[in-house]
Amino acid sequence: MKTVKAKIAAWMTLLTAFLAVLLVVFMIAISSSVAVRTAAGQLEDVVRNNLGQVRMEQGKPQMDSGFRFYHNGVSTFIYSKKEALLAGQLPVSFASAASSEPFRNGVVRMVDAGEVRYLLLDLWLAADWENGVWIRGLVEAPENSRSTYNLLKVAMIVLPVFMALAAAGSYWIIRRAFRPLDSINATAAAINEARDLSRRIGLAPGQDEFSRLGSEFDHLFERLERSFEAEKQFTADASHELRTPVSIIKGACDYALKYDETEEDRQETLDMIKRQAEKMSVVISQLLSMTRLEQGTEQAGMERVELRGFLRGLCREQAYDTGRVLVTGANGTDMELSCGTDRICVQANPALLSRLVINLVENALKYGRTDGRVWLSVQRCKQEVLLQVTDDGDGIAAEHQEKIWQRFYQVDSARSGDLGAGLGLPMVRQIAQLHGGYMTLASEPGRGCTFTLHLPEILYF
Ligand code: ADP
Repeated sequence: MKTVKAKIAAWMTLLTAFLAVLLVVFMIAISSSVAVRTAAGQLEDVVRNNLGQVRMEQGKPQMDSGFRFYHNGVSTFIYSKKEALLAGQLPVSFASAASSEPFRNGVVRMVDAGEVRYLLLDLWLAADWENGVWIRGLVEAPENSRSTYNLLKVAMIVLPVFMALAAAGSYWIIRRAFRPLDSINATAAAINEARDLSRRIGLAPGQDEFSRLGSEFDHLFERLERSFEAEKQFTADASHELRTPVSIIKGACDYALKYDETEEDRQETLDMIKRQAEKMSVVISQLLSMTRLEQGTEQAGMERVELRGFLRGLCREQAYDTGRVLVTGANGTDMELSCGTDRICVQANPALLSRLVINLVENALKYGRTDGRVWLSVQRCKQEVLLQVTDDGDGIAAEHQEKIWQRFYQVDSARSGDLGAGLGLPMVRQIAQLHGGYMTLASEPGRGCTFTLHLPEILYF
């Protein structure tokens, strides 16, 4: 009796039993009252019918052929004004009670005659002012206690069977209804024991409470798994990427302590340590942003962004050289002329979108030609909005084009400079995915690159 299922089944069975007993009591009450009323109705019909069949001739009652002494269980008798029996055969059981029972005109009443109870009706048939006869009808009252006894006997046999069926039925139904809960329990236990966050409850989708609970748990496990994975990745990446600058700093310190004698040597060593520390700081902050993106903590704050205005504002904010970084219309046309007031809007987090564009522009400036140009453009294509960053630098060879999206991948680490760690493009890709979009790259060596962000468009009203 410890499980919730057993408890609910027990309560349901008790309730069913209580309702069944209530029903039996109700049925007994109803059936006895209906039986008495039916018998009284019959009595009244027969006696009134017989009354119509009696004529008084010279002070004596004369019965027509329609008069019936015994009909439908009702016996009829005729008494004189002085209450002497003139016609009819009294039942033995009633004979003694009859003598003491006073006559009352038109009232159906119950009379006890020893073991048997009768319903009784007297009607007065007047001959003149003085004389007349009593017509008395009598019917055995329905035996209440007997029918009650029969009903109770049936109830005693049927009720236990009924209760057993109710208990078994309710337990079966509850077990079926609670099955999803067992599955939730089992999954939670398996996750706990095996420390395997990739497991899911996987209930069929539905509107009931358990389906919703199951899917909420699955979402929770998914977030936990993502969070653990991100933490693992952060630890692995941080130790991988920080090991080199830390050992360079350590080596430089050891060397300086032993050999650096002049002020110049010391300055050189300090510069190197500073560069490595700055690199570490960049790597840590980039890794932290990526971890936050993975965990979804930076997802909030999506809003409608009108892209052309957004790009113009961003270039002003970043104080890009307007001769090098150009915001254009599609295919390099002058934006103000070609696009006019046409607004292209997307749902985006402005801070993340800025980070994405800045990364691409800074790469284009870093890896493009020294006096090269960078073009920023926005256009519609089919169901998508395309935001493109194009440069006229050396481009990226085909064999590297897939790999540059991986963490820490650098085509030529010497060109990336001290502050590059190969985390910029993976972050760009992650931001694109967070916005429901994706990144593509088109590049031919020697002819520059075009990085394109593809986003779903929202209609602007
Ligand atoms: P980082 O710039 O820190 O090295 P990124 O992830 O931003 O890291 O870029 C990865 C690599 O892709 C860079 O090392 C560079 O070789 C290459 N790359 C990125 N953008 C361009 C570009 N516009 N032109 C040529 N190469 C590029």
